[in-house]
Amino acid sequence: MKTPFVTLGQLQEIVRRWPTPFHLYDERGIRENARRLRAAFAWNPGFREYFAVKATPTPGILKLLKEEGCGVDCSSLTELMMADRCGFHGEDIFFSSNDTPPEEFALAERLGAIINLDDITHIDCLLDTLGHVPETICCRYNPGGVFSIGASKEGFQVMDTPGESKYGFTRDQLFAGFRRLKELGAKRFGLHAFLASNTLSNEYYPTLAGILFRLAVELRDETGCAVSFIDLSGGVGVPYRPDQPANDIMAIGAGVRRAYEQILVPAGMGDVSLCTELGRFMLAPYGCLVTRAIHEKHTYKEYIGVDACAADLMRPAMYGAYHHITVMGREDQPCDHTYDVVGALCENNDKFAVDRPLPPIQMGDLLVIHDTGAHGRAMGYNYNGRLRSGELLLREDGSVEMIRRAETPEDYFATLVW
Ligand SMILES: *Cc1c(COP(=O)(O)O)cnc(C)c1O
Repeated sequence: MKTPFVTLGQLQEIVRRWPTPFHLYDERGIRENARRLRAAFAWNPGFREYFAVKATPTPGILKLLKEEGCGVDCSSLTELMMADRCGFHGEDIFFSSNDTPPEEFALAERLGAIINLDDITHIDCLLDTLGHVPETICCRYNPGGVFSIGASKEGFQVMDTPGESKYGFTRDQLFAGFRRLKELGAKRFGLHAFLASNTLSNEYYPTLAGILFRLAVELRDETGCAVSFIDLSGGVGVPYRPDQPANDIMAIGAGVRRAYEQILVPAGMGDVSLCTELGRFMLAPYGCLVTRAIHEKHTYKEYIGVDACAADLMRPAMYGAYHHITVMGREDQPCDHTYDVVGALCENNDKFAVDRPLPPIQMGDLLVIHDTGAHGRAMGYNYNGRLRSGELLLREDGSVEMIRRAETPEDYFATLVW
């Protein structure tokens, strides 16, 4: 059972001012979750979360996270520009990009961001672009092969294929890269890896931490480089389906601590700072897409047409991702109807749900599509000339603020040459 963070009464008030569709975010949920994460890693004095901006690139959200002590993880020119305008400065900004255009390294350096290199050849790119390498530098590791952690206590297996992913240095490149960076004047080194996405297991971070901690000790021993921070990156997941167990961030923090005390502390590296670049875990459950049923269609299947479409939330169309749907005001009715809930794109994958058991839906009903706070509005696009919806923030005091307006035809036409 998933319960929306907003009531039907509140939504009826909101839609009088801002018509559907829109994304709505929950300030209380965002802040409480950010505080839980901080508490889970409070044992590591240097710990910091750098929110992955790509998940929810909205200043109204970034500023909340800034107040909660987070930095930002950027991966493009415009994300860097947004971070700067939101008041993130210097080492508040992590720059983890790949296939990086040189001018983006230049801006990252100008802002004083920590640069995370994706490839050994980017050392020369940095030299050519900046004329030097920064004193603080991070490198992204890719162990190759298949990464898996056996069925966790919760019964979920985590598996991903780093060997198929375009990111990061090989192990040998990492040793060579650290040596070269040191020769070129780098002084503080970081190590980063992202091995699996949307993991539902309290073992993902501790397992990744073990890999990175052992590697950090070897790197220090063999290259003499001072590894001063380790970035566990993103990948901690959220339960999109109502029957999935949520991760326990306190257990995750404790598991990472055990690895830290077993590996880093005995090696004399008990001063290493940890950081994370979580996106989904920070925001997904604290945002929803609110849409209205505007058509019903009875052909070979039962369809409900809503006023949102994949332009507002691409995950179902792109990955077949599950997003839970609550038909507001009908929570107590049996889910005795089976619907495809669809948007208006001329693309048959524009379906928020396929064969979904739901209560009987009446035209005009408000539907809450859950867990759209990360990689939701952010992945939107303008195919079919569809305009992306705006974003609203439900404040802790119950008031609502617009943090991004909906697109208008003028926005769509703005780049055209007539
Ligand atoms: C996407 C991304 C993240 C965030 O991933 P989540 O799965 O949303 O936690 C973090 N770091 C990098 C480099 C990314 O590309």
